[in-house]
Amino acid sequence: MSAVIDVRHLTKAFDGRKVVDDFSIRVEGGRIHGFLGPNGSGKTTTIRMLCGLLTPDAGEGTCLDFDIRTQTAEIKKHVGYMTQKFSLYEDLSISENLDFIARIYAVPRRKEVVAKTLERLGLATRRQQLAGSLSGGWKQRLALAACLLHEPKLLLLDEPTAGVDPKARRDFWENIHQLASEGMTVLVSTHYMDEAEQCHELVYMAYGRKVVEGTAGEVVDRSGLDIWEVSGSDLPELSRELRQLSEVEMVVPFGLTLHVSGRNHDALEKALAPFRQRSDLTLHRIKPGLEDVFISLMDKSVDNFG
Ligand code: ADP
Repeated sequence: MSAVIDVRHLTKAFDGRKVVDDFSIRVEGGRIHGFLGPNGSGKTTTIRMLCGLLTPDAGEGTCLDFDIRTQTAEIKKHVGYMTQKFSLYEDLSISENLDFIARIYAVPRRKEVVAKTLERLGLATRRQQLAGSLSGGWKQRLALAACLLHEPKLLLLDEPTAGVDPKARRDFWENIHQLASEGMTVLVSTHYMDEAEQCHELVYMAYGRKVVEGTAGEVVDRSGLDIWEVSGSDLPELSRELRQLSEVEMVVPFGLTLHVSGRNHDALEKALAPFRQRSDLTLHRIKPGLEDVFISLMDKSVDNFG
């Protein structure tokens, strides 16, 4: 089976500056791909090239088997694209908003499709509520519903849950998983680690380039990070002391502990030995989490390109 997204060497420059640089990705059907990276790393630009809204300066490939350069009208018909700034008509109700959008796109069997979409996303009981009175989480759910009206095969979601509370984000992701289980392919950009963990595959971008790719487990395993969890009474002072060690790459506060990381297992252990002798401190080696890995990647991106 051919991949739903299969693009190679995409490059895009604005004002002479490459914001996407030799980017390739393959996304199989029914998978949820997470797209991560600092602001300005080129995620939105890539998404816009995938759905035919922007033409790459170089590179090629297909989205839903359509050429991203020459068949953009076809791609748009089959892709649901949720931008960061989806605008709803605040003085229309949920169902009026969906009905209006379905009319604009001349969706066949409009009333039936709107009713089905309301049910599918748990919006039916609130159908009469004005969009302007909805909380951020419900607005996002309505925005997702609007993207689904034309029954797309691929969803491109650009930070769909930015600024939404954790419960609403969890509910939103339940919808995403439900859709994927029905065969929908999803590419979603996010800054939230709990969301990244829910993706089947992850891609991390920095300065327009793909830095890491794989499942959450693979990304963690390939990081080569060695982490010690350190607790004690004066964490700010402890953090200053640990940062002096050349074997320590990063010291990051995690709740009431510090995560101290490095890449040379033995050298780090040796450097931390004096701290392990101290009765006021507790040190344990722990398995790195996705958050440790992404903080480290962000740190390195700044070093490399800043
Ligand atoms: P991300 O989605 O990862 O935050 P973007 O793709 O939005 O990144 O932006 C990447 C870079 O390209 C940023 O520096 C942004 O300012 C720049 N950029 C994006 N779109 C345009 C445009 N239409 N014209 C000029 N610069 C742009």
